[in-house]
Amino acid sequence: MTTSIGIIGAGVSGLAVAHSLKRLLGDKADLTVYEKGERPGGAICSKRIDGFLVEWGPNGFLNNEPATFELIKELGIRDRLVVSSDTARKRFLLIGGALHQIPLSPPGFLGTKVLPLSAKLRFALEPFIKKRTAEGDESVADFVARRFGRKAVERMFDPLMSGIYAGNVNTLSIQSTLKVFHEMEQSHGSVVRGMFARIKQRRAEERAGGAPEKVDELVSTSKNPMSNKLLSFAEGMNELIGALADELREHIRSAVTIESFARTEKGFDLVVRDGNGTQTVHHDVVVIATPPEQAAPFVAGLDSMLAQRLKEIKSSTIAVIGLGFKGEDIANPLDGFGYLIPRMEGVRSLGVLWSSSIFPGRAPEGHKLLQIMIGGAHDLRAIEADDQTLVETAMKDADPVLGFRGKPVLQRVIRHTSGIPQYNLGHKARLQEIQQRMQCIDGLHLAGNGYFGISANDCIRHARELAGRIAANIV
Ligand SMILES: Cc1cc2nc3c(=O)[nH]c(=O)nc-3n(C[C@H](O)[C@H](O)[C@H](O)COP(=O)(O)OP(=O)(O)OC[C@H]3O[C@@H](n4cnc5c(N)ncnc54)[C@H](O)[C@@H]3O)c2cc1C
Repeated sequence: MTTSIGIIGAGVSGLAVAHSLKRLLGDKADLTVYEKGERPGGAICSKRIDGFLVEWGPNGFLNNEPATFELIKELGIRDRLVVSSDTARKRFLLIGGALHQIPLSPPGFLGTKVLPLSAKLRFALEPFIKKRTAEGDESVADFVARRFGRKAVERMFDPLMSGIYAGNVNTLSIQSTLKVFHEMEQSHGSVVRGMFARIKQRRAEERAGGAPEKVDELVSTSKNPMSNKLLSFAEGMNELIGALADELREHIRSAVTIESFARTEKGFDLVVRDGNGTQTVHHDVVVIATPPEQAAPFVAGLDSMLAQRLKEIKSSTIAVIGLGFKGEDIANPLDGFGYLIPRMEGVRSLGVLWSSSIFPGRAPEGHKLLQIMIGGAHDLRAIEADDQTLVETAMKDADPVLGFRGKPVLQRVIRHTSGIPQYNLGHKARLQEIQQRMQCIDGLHLAGNGYFGISANDCIRHARELAGRIAANIV
């Protein structure tokens, strides 16, 4: 008997679920992936324009997730991987209008000008600060201010959370974003003591059991995020999407609208509209792999409170402004990954990636590529500005730091209206309720970056785990 499975949303999550189900179930499953856009990939898209490789969304993924390597190997694109340059390990913060390298080690931290001496002393007191005993969630800003001091929030964690989540440090949840910090405080009474305990434990494990087996020689088993490397593909992140889409070609229906979604005795009926009209399709199992707010309408008729909780996980908007220059037209040597900008700097841009310094082949010979982020949770309406305004803002913000001597030879503005889901205060409790309510709807599942992690690695790991659970129920 064949089980009919519908997957709504062809971002990397939906595609990775479909890929794993295809491998696990073969002809036992009849798969269809529905995508409302013209192309699969969602936030991931790379385009080669005039010799520059412009990324719409992620520039890469860290080499610490075995599930991503397993997927890459299954797709046969392992040899297409490119590793970020050593120079890209240098990351900067804009403080007081000047770039300061983010310290990667304790001696580096002592010497850094990112924090003034008084703030470093406050930081050093962290092991002696009592742990929080109050129940409930806490914002990243409150957690960091309590443990490391307010300056650490303003100068380090505010730009970090803008850089990763396009989020607001005052509303993002510590338990759902920097969960490991929260756990260290709870189990060791201090983040710093927790870090030392982890290092000690890892060394003991390594001595006892040798190095853990690796899926691939490029996989890092280090728990220290600073020691991980960023990877991508020779022609950008879209190679991953291209390989998934090629494999799933006959299963993907792009440019469709799901007009209604109803539960039946054994599964779900979807009314699907495409260029040829509407059609009712039955599926035994459905995976909704859209951003949470866009999943809400599907479940509204089944459980209105579930829909409400999904709507509460809002995504921030973000614009990516790709600017290509002749090499000599940027005074700064771009020796590093790029820089993040704390909100206290009063600059509209969130950060600047020096894309051509990160991976090879991102700009033609003698040229450089920048990607500048504007928008995010602090500035949700920024993406409404026209292209020229966004380019001018990006140039004006970056000029004092990078020293432009000429106009860009390439400019490309990419807008994400459902950019990055915000794991705001209460996210963990919201998720628990969502999971409980989902358990009452047999055959319906959620995937995507809205729940358990926003990175491409998180999306892939959860997609594979979900596919495994679905397949186990079928075979
Ligand atoms: C600017 C930017 C930079 C990023 N940088 C990084 C990075 O460097 N490293 C990293 O690991 N991650 C990064 N991320 C995060 C990562 O790219 C995303 O979290 C991930 O790609 C999300 O995949 P997804 O499939 O869960 O969601 P999406 O990519 O959002 O895909 C969801 C899909 O569902 C479709 N859809 C929505 N509603 C419907 C509907 N009603 N019917 C049918 N289809 C529908 C959408 O069109 C979309 O194709 C970045 C994200 C952005 C936006």
